[in-house]
This record gives sequence, C-alpha cells and structure tokens, in this order.
Amino acid sequence: MIRQAVIMAGGLGSRLKERTVSMPKGFIEIGGVPIIKQSIKKLISTGVEEIIIGTGHCADWFERLEGNIRLVHNARYAETGSMGTLACCAPFVKGDFLLLESDLIYDAAGLRVLVNERHKNAALASGPTNSGDEVYLEADADGFLLRQSKNRADICALAGELVGISRLTPAALEAMVSYLDAHSADMPNMEYEAALAAVSLRTENRMPVFVRKIERYLWREIDCEAHLVAAQESVYPYIQEAESLLSVRRETLLNPGPATTADSVKYAQVCADICPREAEFGDVMDWISTELSLFAGKGRIETALFGGSGTAADEVMISSCIPENGKLLIIDNGSYGERFAKIASAYGLNFDVYKSSSFLPLDVDRVKQTALDGMYTHFAIVYHETTTGLLNPAPELCRFCHEHGITTIVDAVSAFAAIPIDMDRDGFDFMASTSNKNIQGMAGVAFVFCRKDALEKLKTYPMRNYYLNLWDQYAYFKKARQMRFTPPVQTLYALRQAIIEAKLETIAGRYARYSACWEILVHTIKRLNLNMLVPEEAQSRLITAIIEPDSPKYRFDDLHDRARDAGFTIYPGKLSAAATFRIANIGDIRPEEMSGFTLLLERYIRTL
Ligand code: PLP
Ligand code: MG
Ligand code: MG
Repeated sequence: MIRQAVIMAGGLGSRLKERTVSMPKGFIEIGGVPIIKQSIKKLISTGVEEIIIGTGHCADWFERLEGNIRLVHNARYAETGSMGTLACCAPFVKGDFLLLESDLIYDAAGLRVLVNERHKNAALASGPTNSGDEVYLEADADGFLLRQSKNRADICALAGELVGISRLTPAALEAMVSYLDAHSADMPNMEYEAALAAVSLRTENRMPVFVRKIERYLWREIDCEAHLVAAQESVYPYIQEAESLLSVRRETLLNPGPATTADSVKYAQVCADICPREAEFGDVMDWISTELSLFAGKGRIETALFGGSGTAADEVMISSCIPENGKLLIIDNGSYGERFAKIASAYGLNFDVYKSSSFLPLDVDRVKQTALDGMYTHFAIVYHETTTGLLNPAPELCRFCHEHGITTIVDAVSAFAAIPIDMDRDGFDFMASTSNKNIQGMAGVAFVFCRKDALEKLKTYPMRNYYLNLWDQYAYFKKARQMRFTPPVQTLYALRQAIIEAKLETIAGRYARYSACWEILVHTIKRLNLNMLVPEEAQSRLITAIIEPDSPKYRFDDLHDRARDAGFTIYPGKLSAAATFRIANIGDIRPEEMSGFTLLLERYIRTL
C-alpha cells in the first residue's frame, strides 16, 4: 500500500521565463486549474494519504494548496538540483511512496499502474514524446534501469522516456541521498534522475529500479513555452478524455443511504487480492479504526469494526453493553428507536420504552425525569431518526444521564460524519454507525465507538452473543490487529478512501455542503406549498419527510420513476401515521444536483 507521495517543486523554472519569475512552475494553469492541483487531486484519488512537497522558488505559493500536505523547504534550492530538494523531504518519508515532478500533466492511470506494480522500485516510462527535452532510459535484459541521459547518443538500447513519476522504497531513497552526499563536491546540483540511475546500477547493495513502460502514455512535462502549448493542445484534451472513460454512470441517491459514493471510493475496491490475515491488511484496519475514532471526539475513543450493516452495530451495543442486573430505557420516536426495543426484547433484557411523537421534538424534561424515576442503568437513543429527519437532543439527554451515572448508548448511524460529534462532550458512552451513510463509503462495515472507560467494564458482562460481542471483537483486534471473523476486505479499502476524503472535507465542511443541499430543497418545498412533517427547527437537515400533495393524481411511483429516469433515486415515507415521501441529502452529492432534482420535482407537482 502506498500512503505518501513526494512532489519535487523547488526549481526556478527559468526556461518558462516571465511566467515563472514570481510563481513556481506547478502553478501554471491548464484547463483553468494549476497543474500541481490536478496532480494532488489524482494522488488523493489513488489513495495517497499525505503529500510532501519539496519547495524552493516562491515557496509561499504552496501554502494555498488544500489537502493533507506537508511543505518542506529546500533553503538552498537555487544551488541544488532536484536531488537536493528530495533529500530535504527524505526524513518525512515513512514507507513506500510515489515520487513526482511538479511540472507534469499526466493520465491518472499511470499512478494506478505504479500502485499495482510488483517491483517495489519502479519508474514510469513512455514511448516517444518528441518533446525536445527527453530523459532517455536504458534498461538491462530484465527491464531494470541502467542509464539515463538527455543525450540520446549515450543510450544503447532505448527502454523508454522517463515520465517523472516513480514508486520507491525508503531504502532506495536512503541510497539516493547517500549518493548525493558522496558526490556533493563533484555534482553539487545533482538531479534526482542521476541518483535514481546510480542506485539502480551499482553492484553492491543494488536497488534495481524497474522501468515500467506504457508505450502510449498521455503525459507532458512543462519546462518551456513550447511544452506548454503542446501540452494544452495535444495532450491535455486526451488526458481528459482517457480519464472520463473510467467515470461510472452517476446515480444521485436521495434515499437515506446507502449514499452516493465518489468514483475514487468505488475504484478503491478494485485492488490486488490480499489475505486479510496479512499484517499489511491489519495496518489498513488499524488506520481505519484510529481515524474513525478521531471523527468521534477528542477523548480516548476506541472503535470496533464488524462486518455488518447499521443494525448490526445497534445490536452489538444493545446485546453487549448491559450487565446482568442492568435496566435499560429506550427512547422510541421512530423506526430505529423501535428497532432498539425489538433487539432488547430478542435478548430478553430488562427494559422500558419511552414512546414519543415521531415528528415532534422530545419533551426533554419528561425524558430526564423518566430516566431518574425508573432507576435505569442504561439509556438508549437514536440521534437522528432517519424515519422522519427528526434530530433528537441526544447530547443534552446523554450529558444528563452521564451526570446521573447512567451509561448511554447512541445510534448515530445517520448522524455520524455529518453532525459534529464529540463523545466526551456529548456524554455518549457507546455509539453506532456504518460505512454507507455520511462517511460516504460502501455498505458492509458496522462501527461501534466506545469511550475507553465504559468499554473496559464490558470485560465482565454476560456473553449473550457471539459474532456481535463488542468486548471480544475489540480485545481480539487489539491483540492481533485482526477482526475475529472474515472482514469485508474490499469494503474496507473503499472505507479507507472515503475516510481520506472526509478528512479533507472535514465534518463541518460536509455538514455545510449537506445543509446547502437541504436549503435548496426546502426553498422549493415552500415555493410549491408542500408541507414538511417535522418542524423546521427540529430537523437534522439530512433528510426531509414531505407530506404527499393533496391531489388524486399524485402517485409516489410516478414521481419515483421520473426521478429515476433522470438519475435521481428517492424514497417513500416510513410512517403509517402520515403519508410522506422522503428526500435525503447525504452522500457525495452537490448543490447543483439538488437544484436539478428540485426542478424535476417542481415539474411533476405542476402536473397534479
Ligand atoms: N439506525 C438508523 C438511524 C438508520 O438510519 C438506519 C438505516 O437507515 C439503521 C439504524 C439501520 O441500518 P442498516 O439498514 O444498515 O441495518
Ligand atoms: Mg524532469
Ligand atoms: Mg521539469
């Protein structure tokens, strides 16, 4: 697995003359976007978690880039070559990484080829570009790099032209840095290509670099005006086309999950098969669990992963978190509160249900009084009732319970990763969610978040379940970095990509995007004189239950089918009390798509 990339971006770019006097080459725009931004986006979509940029000339420009980026300044950039910049970045490299030049445009397929490459050190090469600035490569009979030169005459059997994208191990990087150190006197402005060829060629402690050639690879390096013109006119459009061929037909899911996913998340599942007992996969799960915990608060939170849906996570909590003599109060104001009660009943627990309207806000004082009067040890609530879009005051109630020694269990299946949560602040002891809602991954992974002190108590609780046992799943993972049973391998890879992207957007940013979509919807609902089931101030802004229009011509199926034909999926209501349909605005959806849907809704309503 490749988690880091290094972009060497220290150069003066002097051949681009006035264009780069006060700007680094990477900020040259093609198609209206700086080429380094395009490169960063492709790297992130390929699963790179952190991008290290070695800066020099006009270093401050890089501070405006978004992403998990570490800037490393090469103070001597004017005297060193690219190898000097790479050496500055080397201390921050933790594992196998992608190495790129900053002045490239390229087809993202090249990144996938390198990620899939069996050789741990490999340089991407292409057939002839006729760019006039080629770095020619020569390889041995096994395809390993022997020589590189800008002078074609230096090369015997041509293996290809160096693209400027490679994959390397930390050991190869270390060898390259040693080579630079050893030649600091005779080659003070060494380029990285020279060090790459040197470590590949040497006899002792050789780090062979495989030349991975793609004959018709779409790429261009931009070092002068002629390169820029050629890139714009005869390369960039074809890169756009090649990448667009891989885009998956867009279906905008306005149902409350599984939510729409990005193509990068879909493609993250297409990877080399792996036995999940390999340490490498343990690392992936450990990373997922740690990163999910960070989304759930600042305190000591442990996240147990299970193969399963959201209901599995709910069942894990109800069946694992209540001691022999415990007494549970369940708040039921929708289908998922009701489901909590069904689970508790199946396990024969001692519990009571507090029933409340499914569309009006809870009576907070009454709930608090009930929790105290009944001598409950445990309290379970659904944060966001997806049934209607009602947002329960779970933080206020759970904080209250906490103050009174009552352990809290929260279904945050459709709240987590949209509504900012801090389990310590909010008084949540245990919390459930799933991979296919606001985190924007694929269906199949259930998460249970636990406050460490609450979790430790489970050790002595009765084992009412087996697959779903929280303590066993947690303890085994801590010990073996494995799930006890077969994990959904590819779904976890997709989840990893979804987490990378959620971190970039931030939960607050995600909620702002979702809210923007919701506002577009609500604006239309009001304009069309439709009514919402839940008072606006009690809504989650994640799903809206709309009361069906009062017209004999209205059929949910007609609206659904029209929407489906246009690429939108909508959902019927879930309550018997009121006839509604529901529009969710979670997942990888954009405000313009919601606008598109509202136009369609308006057209349909006008036919009634
Ligand atoms: N809890 C809530 C609040 C939900 O919205 C859902 C699903 O929509 C679930 C639980 C159950 O999740 P799943 O259908 O994945 O079992
Ligand atoms: Mg170059
Ligand atoms: Mg260059």
